[in-house]
Amino acid sequence: MYEVPDQPHYVILKEGTNQGKLALTDQLGFSYSLKDKSKKTFTWRCVHRPSYAPPCNAKVKQRITEGVDFAEIYDQADFTFVPPSFSDPHYHIAKDGIHKQKEVMRDAKKAAMEEKFKASRQIVMAEL
Ligand SMILES: [Zn+2]
Repeated sequence: MYEVPDQPHYVILKEGTNQGKLALTDQLGFSYSLKDKSKKTFTWRCVHRPSYAPPCNAKVKQRITEGVDFAEIYDQADFTFVPPSFSDPHYHIAKDGIHKQKEVMRDAKKAAMEEKFKASRQIVMAEL
């Protein structure tokens, strides 16, 4: 079973959005899109921006080194979570799944390779 970690582990997904843009996930169920760039810092903003409520203002700052492909080479220490307030890092519920789904599919494919006689469809159902 998948266990939700309690510490963020930031992963940058290339083509992580429908528009093919970069996305950042924290593996806690939150994801971020790139909002501001400066020479030393990238600012990611939570993607929770519903039409019926104010946007979530949680941000993640990523320290970058000039000349380095920040989307490929990064360290967990480069990321700093910037909550809108201490009591309420995100006002909405984590959407547990973006990263999880990818892992489940990958594991399912692996299982399918190992057990060639099972229909992969069954394996996917078992994994879920
Ligand atoms: Zn948020």
